[in-house]
Amino acid sequence: MKSHLFIFMALIIVSCAPNKSTNTQPEDNFRYNVEQFADAGVLRFRVNGWDSLDVRRKALVYCLNEAALWGRDILFDQNNRYNLAVRRTLEAIYSGYQGDTATVDYKEFIIYLKRVWFSNGIHHHYGQEKFLPAFSKEFFVDAVRSLNIKQVPVRENQSVDDFLAEIIPVIFDPQVYTKKVEQGSGVDVISSSANNYYGQGVTQSDVERFYDAKKDPHNTQPVAYGLNSRLVKQNGVLTEQVYRLGGLYSSSIEKIIYWLQEAGKYTENEEQSRVIELLVDHYRTGSLETYDDYAIAWVQDTESMVDFVNGFTESYGDALGIKASWEALVNFKDLDATAKTKIISENAQWFEDNSPVARQFRKEKVKGVSAKAITAAIIGGDCYPTTPIGINLPNSNWIRKEYGSKSVTITNITDAYDKAALGSGFIDEFVSGDYEKGLIKKYSSQTDNLHTDLHECLGHGSGKLLPGVDPDALKVYGSTIEEARADLFGLYYIPDAKMLELGLLDDAEAYKAEYYKYMMNGLMTQLARIEPGKQIEESHMRNRAMIAHWVLEKGAAEKVVELKKDPEHDKTFVKINDYEKMRALIGQLLAEIQRIKSEGDFKAAQEIVETYAVEVDRALHLEVKTRYDALGIVPYKGFVNPVYEAVRGEQGEIIDVKVSYDEGYAEQMMRYAQDYSPLPTYND
Ligand code: ZN
Repeated sequence: MKSHLFIFMALIIVSCAPNKSTNTQPEDNFRYNVEQFADAGVLRFRVNGWDSLDVRRKALVYCLNEAALWGRDILFDQNNRYNLAVRRTLEAIYSGYQGDTATVDYKEFIIYLKRVWFSNGIHHHYGQEKFLPAFSKEFFVDAVRSLNIKQVPVRENQSVDDFLAEIIPVIFDPQVYTKKVEQGSGVDVISSSANNYYGQGVTQSDVERFYDAKKDPHNTQPVAYGLNSRLVKQNGVLTEQVYRLGGLYSSSIEKIIYWLQEAGKYTENEEQSRVIELLVDHYRTGSLETYDDYAIAWVQDTESMVDFVNGFTESYGDALGIKASWEALVNFKDLDATAKTKIISENAQWFEDNSPVARQFRKEKVKGVSAKAITAAIIGGDCYPTTPIGINLPNSNWIRKEYGSKSVTITNITDAYDKAALGSGFIDEFVSGDYEKGLIKKYSSQTDNLHTDLHECLGHGSGKLLPGVDPDALKVYGSTIEEARADLFGLYYIPDAKMLELGLLDDAEAYKAEYYKYMMNGLMTQLARIEPGKQIEESHMRNRAMIAHWVLEKGAAEKVVELKKDPEHDKTFVKINDYEKMRALIGQLLAEIQRIKSEGDFKAAQEIVETYAVEVDRALHLEVKTRYDALGIVPYKGFVNPVYEAVRGEQGEIIDVKVSYDEGYAEQMMRYAQDYSPLPTYND
C-alpha cells in the first residue's frame, strides 16, 4: 500500500450541514446550500478572486477545466464495471419517464439516482458499501421496458430482457458487489472488492506476486508499478491493460489530451508548458517514467498562478493501494492565505528537529515542502462532487525525497463549508460546556485550517524510513498509519509556543478548540457517517478513531480525557480535563507511529489499528446518529461546480471567460452526462 496519503478529508464535514430550512443567508445572497438527500448535502463554492485573473489565465483555467470534466466516466468504470450501465439506465429513465412522478417509487428512484451521482457509482463514496434502492424491482423493470431500446445501454445484440437479467442483481442484490473496497483482515482483499482495478479471477496473491516481481530493491527511483492499469488474467496469464491513448479508456483520454493541448496555448511560462507536454505524453504512451518526469516538473513549478491536478493519482480505491483513480482539480493561488502556509514551510526544519520522534527516524534535512493556499476553479473525477480540502502531491516517495512536494489547502472550499454550516446547531448539541463552546466558536475555523496546513505541509513530509525498509511494509494498515502520522504531527505542534511566535495563532489557548473537536470527532461524532452494524473502514476515519481512543485509554488513570454521560439528558460528551497532558500523550503516540512507519513494523501497525481504530461502540453509535438526525444534519457534503462560458474572438481564441453559479445538482449531472461522456458503457 502506498505509504503517503494526500487527501485530508474534510474534518469539517462532521461539523457542518444545516438542514434546508436554515435561514443564514450571507449578506450578498450567495446560495451555499443547494439541496439535500439521503445522507448527503450538496453545496456550492464561489471562485473568489476570479475577476482579478487576467484574460490569458482565465483562458488557461477554462481549458484545464474542460480537461477536468472529460475524465468523469473513467472513475465510474474504475469504481465498478457496471457503474456506467447503471448510471446511463437511470439517466435514461430520468429524462424519458412518462409515468406518475408523484409515487413513492419515483421519489425513491430520484434519491437513488442522486446517490449514484454523488458516489460516482453504486457504492457509498465513503463507507464503500453498496447502497440499495428503495424503489421496487417492478417499477424499475417497467420503467426500462417503457424506454426506446436505443436509450437502454444494452450490450451488442443483447435484448432488453437479457440486459435486465444482468443489471438487476447489480442494483438490487445485497450479496452482489457488496463492497467497493474490502480491507478486512483474513479475506482476499482483491477478489472480494467490487472495484474494477482487477479482472475476474485475479486474487490478492496474484497481485502481490505480479508487483513484487517488478520491484528491484536496488532501484532508488522506482516508478509506481501498476498505477495506471487494470490487471487482468487472460488464459491464465496476468497482463496489464494500460490507461492510455489507444488503450483502456482511450476515448476519454483523447478528449483530455485535446484540452490539455488547448491549455498549452495559454500557459504562463515555460515550466508550465513543459508540465502540460509531459502529461500529454504520459497520456499518449501510458509510460510511468514519463509520469514521474511530469511529477518532477509539476512539483518544481511553484511560480505559476494557475495550477492543476489531472490524472491517475490516489490509490485509496484499491485495497492494496497500487491502482490509482482518475481525479482532477483546477485552481489558482489565494495569495493572502498562502502567506501563512509559507511561514510553516519555511520553518519545516525547526519542526523536524524539535519533534518527539526518535532521532534516527527524523530527516536530517527536510526538503522543499512548498505550501500554498488555493482557490478551486473546478473539481473533477475522484474530487467531485465530494472534494478534499487539502492535497499533498506527488505520491512517489523518491520524488518527494529528492524534489519535495506541493501541499495545498483549498480555501474557497473550507469557506463554503463554514458558511453553509452557520446555525446548524451542531456545536450546541455535541460540545460539553460553555467554556468549550466558546473556544470552538471563537477559534475552530482558524485552528482547523492550521491543523490542515500542518498535516499537509509538515506531517506527510516529516520522518524517514530506515535503510532497506519496504515503503509498502505496512500493507493494508499503511494508509491509516500514514494519516495518523500527519495528523499527530499537526496536533503535537498546534499548542506549541512556536505558533504564537510565528504569528500563526494569536492566543495560547486557541489550540484547545482543535484538541476538543478532534477528540469529539474521533470518539463520537464521526460515527454519524457509519452505517448501523458496520465497522470503521475508511483510513482517515480509522486514523482519527485510533488517535482518540489511544489517548482516551492511556490517559484514563489520570482522567486526562473522559467520555461522560450527562445524567439529565442521557447524552454522552467528551470532557478534556488536562490539555497539557493530552499534548504529552499525542507526542508519545507520534513517536511510536513514526517508529512503526520507519521500521516497517507490520505487526505493531496491525495491533494498534485493530485495537483502537476499527470497532464501533454500538450504543454510542446509535446515540450519535439519533442526535444528528434530530438536528437534520447530514454527514456528507459535496459540491456542484460553477459554470464557465468562453467568449471567443475571430480566430477562435478565447477573449473572455464568464463564471456563473446558478446550475442545480441534477441539471449539472445531466449536462455532464450529455456533454462529457465519451466512454463505451462496457469496458471489459
Ligand atoms: Zn493526509
